[in-house]
Amino acid sequence: MKTLNKAAQSNITPAQAYELLRHGNERFVDNLRLHRNLLEQVNDTRDGQWPMAAIVSCMDSRTSAELIFDQGLGDIFSIRLAGAVISDNVLGSLEYACKVAGSKFIVVLGHSKCGAIKGACDMVQMGNLTGLLNKITPAVFAEKTITENRTSSNPAFVDAVTHLHTERSVQAILEQSHILREMILNGEVGIIGAMYDVETGVVTFQEETLVIGSEKFNTTPEAATV
Ligand SMILES: [Zn+2]
Repeated sequence: MKTLNKAAQSNITPAQAYELLRHGNERFVDNLRLHRNLLEQVNDTRDGQWPMAAIVSCMDSRTSAELIFDQGLGDIFSIRLAGAVISDNVLGSLEYACKVAGSKFIVVLGHSKCGAIKGACDMVQMGNLTGLLNKITPAVFAEKTITENRTSSNPAFVDAVTHLHTERSVQAILEQSHILREMILNGEVGIIGAMYDVETGVVTFQEETLVIGSEKFNTTPEAATV
């Protein structure tokens, strides 16, 4: 597997970057990871990096973006915080990834059985964690479909809040970063929310959150060619 360089990165469209990530997770799930000489990739990237995508995900030890999308050194930016929360720092990192370093696609990746989401569901308060969980709380209140046992002991509630939190994070990026919004709306960059299942390794993309260009991206992912 070749390491990305400037030319390869500039030839990848947002739809193709999405496709590369989808295929990477399929390889991961099928245990068919590409062979990579990581030491060689260290050498390939010694003078710079040209990652095709940026993944915002949780710090959870089971959700390493490079592993679950079967990517190598220099392929993706990985921004990881408990609960995959969006903040000014995350927005700044994404703006760097896309505007300065040329990445073409953003994935906001939630995951099942997320401890941060569970903490927010239970209104946990503890030191600096309180402020972090407060960034998830709006999704807890916005979740209206489950009326009984709205706590972390109800997996359906935790899943519903996680789904909603991810959707709201995609929206927050579009609303709070004029740089990224402009790049997404003019088709230079794409964005989508997704969910990682810690029991199966499968990433399920939330197609309804996909935006590339000024219109919602309507073609099926299979239509993209790489
Ligand atoms: Zn988590």
